[in-house]
Amino acid sequence: MSVVIAGAGIGGLTAALSLHAAGIGATVVESAREIRPLGVGINLLPHAVRELTELGLGDGLADLGVATAENVYADRHGRRIFSEPRGMAQGYRWPQYSIHRGELQLLLLAAVRERLGPDAVRTGARVTGFEQGPGDADGVRVRVLDRATGTAGEQDAEALIGADGLHSAVRAELHPDDGPLLWSGIRMWRGTARAAPFLTGRSAAIVSDGDAELIAYPIGRDRINWVCLVRVAEPGPLTGDAGWNRAGRVADVLPYYQDWALGWLDVPALLAASGEILEYPMVDRDPLPSWGRGRVTLLGDAAHPMYPVGANGASQAIVDARVLAYELSAPDGPRSGPARYEAARRDATAAVVRANRAMHRDGGRGPRELARITDTYRRATGSEVETLNTRPSLTRR
Ligand SMILES: Cc1cc2nc3c(=O)[nH]c(=O)nc-3n(C[C@H](O)[C@H](O)[C@H](O)COP(=O)(O)OP(=O)(O)OC[C@H]3O[C@@H](n4cnc5c(N)ncnc54)[C@H](O)[C@@H]3O)c2cc1C
Repeated sequence: MSVVIAGAGIGGLTAALSLHAAGIGATVVESAREIRPLGVGINLLPHAVRELTELGLGDGLADLGVATAENVYADRHGRRIFSEPRGMAQGYRWPQYSIHRGELQLLLLAAVRERLGPDAVRTGARVTGFEQGPGDADGVRVRVLDRATGTAGEQDAEALIGADGLHSAVRAELHPDDGPLLWSGIRMWRGTARAAPFLTGRSAAIVSDGDAELIAYPIGRDRINWVCLVRVAEPGPLTGDAGWNRAGRVADVLPYYQDWALGWLDVPALLAASGEILEYPMVDRDPLPSWGRGRVTLLGDAAHPMYPVGANGASQAIVDARVLAYELSAPDGPRSGPARYEAARRDATAAVVRANRAMHRDGGRGPRELARITDTYRRATGSEVETLNTRPSLTRR
């Protein structure tokens, strides 16, 4: 018997690698028929880079990612308002990387297959629910639907980890009364384009103009990743779809940025040169009072979807995975580990969800305000330089 992980996203694959490193077998059940390098750019903050480095993936990350040197806040005329060093330039012992999400996922997938075996990740199989006995003594029975044949099957496991993202089936079974996703009223478009490097070549730009904002950073191989955020409605419960795969149109987003002239980055040309554009509503959820039950728990977006403004979604999923593997590998881990994991991570991630909301709400215009906001964010999310640099490793020896 081993641990079953629902979802081969960033969190699920990191959980598999972390369990393996702690001497625990795992299988990953992924609903997509094939894992293709989907998505665009994401950021891995130093606390996540530390964990992946301790899993032996430091060189792979350095090959794929761009080590971010600074965040530059500017207005739509390109005037610099505030900047701060990032990653090692800020004093962390680990870099911050901007990286293509799909390429990161494939790096993790290759490591899982190499270390846990070619069959460790089962694709085209959707977790639909689970049963566990009273007292949780006997493990958990996971219901799995084979998408190709339509056959419903079962898999016994010592524990079940719901790493199945924004529309988690494991979460739905644990929390049947969960409300809808909460929409900020912001619509996001994301894309990448080949473009000349700007500023240091390793700078991330955050440019704001009232209701429209742009975030742009390089993700390697001459690509600039961009995210446009535009307020189109008042905040409220999301009605309709919040998937990661909806195609956006450049004609919908370009009008908001047509007359932006940064000088060091041609925004209209960047948007127009982008191949595939993705469109999403910016959503999150109120933190849950509990995540799991017995031998079943949640991690990453399944547990705590958050606004992307702090660039923390993938990073928090990675830290979740490492803490959970640490606790599951303790004596009596499958039974008592999930509760210890939740005690360690629930309040911490709820603080990140709230800090992202606060950062989004407060915006910030002047240099002093921006310095305060970024500082507050670091404190609220427990990611001060000294805290990360001195915290003990999550690798169980
Ligand atoms: C296709 C895709 C593209 C994305 N693109 C971006 C991006 O460009 N930028 C960005 O910042 N973030 C993106 N994200 C989100 C980002 O990856 C997450 O916010 C973050 O990495 C946390 O990851 P996670 O592992 O918790 O969830 P996710 O990365 O969402 O992974 C969840 C995985 O579970 C699978 N799954 C879902 N339901 C089931 C089920 N019932 N049974 C089995 N498997 C299931 C999904 O197919 C997916 O592979 C994307 C997510 C996806 C799925």
